[in-house]
Formats: sequence, C-alpha cells, structure tokens
Amino acid sequence: MANSDNKRRKFMATTLQSVGLTALGGLLWSGYSDEVKASPLVLRPPGALPEEDFLKACIKCGLCAEACENRDSNINKDGTKRAGTLKMAKGGDHKMIGTPFFIPTEIPCYMCDDIPCVPVCPSGALDMPSLLNKKEELDINKARMGLAVVHKESCIAFWGIQCDACYRACPIQGEAITIEHQKNERTGKHAFLLPIVHSDVCTGCGLCEKACVTEKPAIFVLPIEHSTGRAGDHYVKGWDEKDQQRVKDAKEIHTKDERSEKEATDYLNMGVEY
Ligand code: SF4
Ligand code: SF4
Ligand code: SF4
Repeated sequence: MANSDNKRRKFMATTLQSVGLTALGGLLWSGYSDEVKASPLVLRPPGALPEEDFLKACIKCGLCAEACENRDSNINKDGTKRAGTLKMAKGGDHKMIGTPFFIPTEIPCYMCDDIPCVPVCPSGALDMPSLLNKKEELDINKARMGLAVVHKESCIAFWGIQCDACYRACPIQGEAITIEHQKNERTGKHAFLLPIVHSDVCTGCGLCEKACVTEKPAIFVLPIEHSTGRAGDHYVKGWDEKDQQRVKDAKEIHTKDERSEKEATDYLNMGVEY
C-alpha cells in the first residue's frame, strides 16, 4: 500500500514538474516572441536615450509610469486617479516587455512642466541633462519623444475644409505647428489653411494626434528615427554659414588626420636605410 502511495506521489510530482516546465517554457517563449515582434515604432517617455541605449539602460522598474500616474494633474478632486500616459509593456503589446511607452491616441503626454517621470528614473535611461535648458532647469520643450507628421491625403485641411484641431491642441502652438495660408487654385476664392509641423520644436507629445478629427489620425507621431530623413554630409547649404563652417571643419580634421598618419609613418621609418 505504502509502495503504491509512493508511486502515485512520484507520478504526481513528475506530472506537475512537466506541466510547470511547459508553462514556464510557454511564458519564456511568449516573452521571446514578443521581443522578436517588438515594434520599432514605439514612443518612449521624455528624455529617453536613443532606443538601443534605452533598452540596455532601462531596468524595467516602472517608477516613471508610477510618477506619471501620480502626477498632480492626474488626480481627481475626490482623490481617485485617472490612468497615466505611460504604460509598462506586457506580453501582446509587441514592445520590449517591462519597458515604458505611450500611445497618443489613447493618452498623449501632457508635457508636465515639472516632468515628474524623469527625475525618478534610477538608471539614466531617461536622461535628465538632455532636458535642461540654459538656466539648468528641467524644460519639457526640450523633449523629443518623436515627431508629428501630417498625411496630406487624409488631412481634410488639404482638401480645403477648415480644420485646425491639431493646431489648437498643440501646447507649443504657433511654433511646433503653424498654419500656412495657401491659395485654393481650384475655387479661386478660398484659401487652404494648412497645418505645418516644425521638427526643431515639436516634442512628439501626441496631443495633436489625439485631437485629430479624421477617422484614423491624419497627423501622427513617429519616433524621430522613423519620421526624418538624412541628406548626408556631402550636401552643403550654400546660404547657411553654419553648414559651410561644418564642411570646413570636417576638411580640416581630415587633413590633420592625414598629416598625423604621415608623421607617424615618418617617425617609424626614421633611421631605416633601404
Ligand atoms: S511629462 Fe508626459 S510622460 Fe511625463 S509625467 Fe507628464 S504626462 Fe507623463
Ligand atoms: S524609471 Fe527608468 S529604468 Fe525604470 S522603467 Fe522607467 S525608464 Fe526604465
Ligand atoms: S506632437 Fe503635435 S501637439 Fe505635440 S508638440 Fe508636436 S505638433 Fe505640437
């Protein structure tokens, strides 16, 4: 009898172990496949390092998301809280699990003046110095969470319909987005009032995307790497003194390098007779 009990216990233990291992394997696999499928189009909190460095630095503690949820403006009069902007990625989000991100169409970043999500970051994944202005104060206008881009074909302002929802929602109105007047050649009477985003000012907060009236937002925020091009160093703006200086400096460095290489070879060959 004792022998059969022992056998039953052993059988149960082995079964549970294999179920546990299968479940663990499943979890690990879903975590792994989620990382593999992780979308590069992820928007990170203000001050986040470039994506690759961010992923290395972030220890997935969630303090930024907690601070975002607990920010003063997020607490109702009765003490209850609304959901914060920042979410921590979980399985199925197609983001690196445990890392903070936000989706503007759900909850954009409200560009808090005191940026509470950043100073709490213990790892430097959210880089406070990058958000300091000349007075050494935290300045949310220096954040570059992404860049808003306008899809002209679906933006109804480009159809001639009057709409400035994105312009009105922008916290840096008149600088990050301006409205450009353009003559409507088709009617000859009306003007297009076109939203234009300025990449040197836009923080990527996503308030414009959230406010857009079209079925799928015609203005949307993408990570900077995915919303900008690069002309390459060999193109020079002839009208821009800074750009000309950049090319001059690059040439000087190049010549200096060549010279030092030559000097090094001369030194090595000193006293060598052929
Ligand atoms: S700055 Fe944006 S992400 Fe940070 S706490 Fe405020 S709303 Fe949240
Ligand atoms: S506080 Fe910093 S380290 Fe912690 S989850 Fe947020 S970004 Fe990552
Ligand atoms: S993302 Fe939109 S609302 Fe935010 S700063 Fe840029 S243009 Fe303005």
